[in-house]
Amino acid sequence: MTTLLFTHDSALSHVSPLGHPERVERLEAIKAALAAPGFAALARREAPLADEAEVLRCHAPEHLAAIKAARPTRGWSALDADTYMSPGSWEAALRAVGGAEAAVDAVLSGEAANAFVAMRPPGHHAERDRPMGFCLFGTVSIAAKYALDHHGLKRVAVLDFDVHHGNGTQDLLWDEAQAIFVSSQQIPLYPGSGHADETGAHGQIVNLPLRPGTGGAEMRAAWAPALARVAEFGPELILISAGFDAHRDDPLGGLNWTEADFAWITGAICDIAAETASGRVVSCLEGGYDLDALAASVAAHVKVLMERGQ
Ligand SMILES: [Zn+2]
Repeated sequence: MTTLLFTHDSALSHVSPLGHPERVERLEAIKAALAAPGFAALARREAPLADEAEVLRCHAPEHLAAIKAARPTRGWSALDADTYMSPGSWEAALRAVGGAEAAVDAVLSGEAANAFVAMRPPGHHAERDRPMGFCLFGTVSIAAKYALDHHGLKRVAVLDFDVHHGNGTQDLLWDEAQAIFVSSQQIPLYPGSGHADETGAHGQIVNLPLRPGTGGAEMRAAWAPALARVAEFGPELILISAGFDAHRDDPLGGLNWTEADFAWITGAICDIAAETASGRVVSCLEGGYDLDALAASVAAHVKVLMERGQ
């Protein structure tokens, strides 16, 4: 058993306007970090192009059509105040979905113990009918639905430790009794949702608001009981929305997590996966906007996945 890395150069062709924090250099920093000798054992795969119909597992046909129609032939098209498409964005977004689904296939077939999908644009802000917050498609939610509907799993978990609330994932999984969604986020912060009283149609959504300026101790105290609830739910697969913008050096977030905190939460999630899901974890990149902090945090995250995947 091993850890798989899914990525594709199309993620470098999703180009944002100058000065935009969600930029090509993020993926270049991650690629450089994972090229270090310590990651030689990481098995690497190209993220395949998802069929367009896969997007419809979570989104309205009108949403897919609108994103397709917004593809620019040059420059950018603005979908909202901070969400853009360049000519390469369509393929990149479809390969982000394809990579997440291929990662689900790989861990469910036993080809790999776990996987990290290093693609952009990110996905956890995209709602059923609208792109939002740098995100076009709800990648991790689509992968969760794929695991349930295509592979026939009965219970999956989606765990989101990005500093921003996964409002898109919450929207897409609100009615899904077979998916538990746990999200920690700084409040107040964009997008403004993610309060503890937002609990889903079946009480299967758990929001963990964190106060600005708090660090690893508060994060661990919030996540420990939530992870116990996940264990009780008994997921057969755990998906992670892995955002690294809760890092203390991140320019968009106001939390004080360190690489050690990302390693801790990764290990804690792998513990639950070992208990209920035969260790099966698929982690998808979300945010993280300080390049050095992002590279170091992804390295810490993937290192734990590799240790647990052996
Ligand atoms: Zn974020």
